[in-house]
Amino acid sequence: MMLIPCPWCGDRIDAEFTCGGEAHIVRPDPATASDAEWADYLFMRENPKGLHHERWFHAHGCRRWFHMTRDTVSHRIVAVYAITESAPEATG
Ligand SMILES: [Zn+2]
Repeated sequence: MMLIPCPWCGDRIDAEFTCGGEAHIVRPDPATASDAEWADYLFMRENPKGLHHERWFHAHGCRRWFHMTRDTVSHRIVAVYAITESAPEATG
């Protein structure tokens, strides 16, 4: 079990949340993107061993999205921040 600090509800168990995958993926312009760029946007994701920026949804709580930076090896949560914010500098 992992305790996740929802920015609005405080610490809750991970069963209340849904991970929305990698954060900060920029959608290319479909009118100008090549097939390779579009495929990269749709399917290719980072799979780092270490810090990873992710989107999370508090499905069984406040039903809000937020960003979280988590170490994929230890599950240590480094930062939690608003869905509209960029990744904190110190977390890579
Ligand atoms: Zn919440």
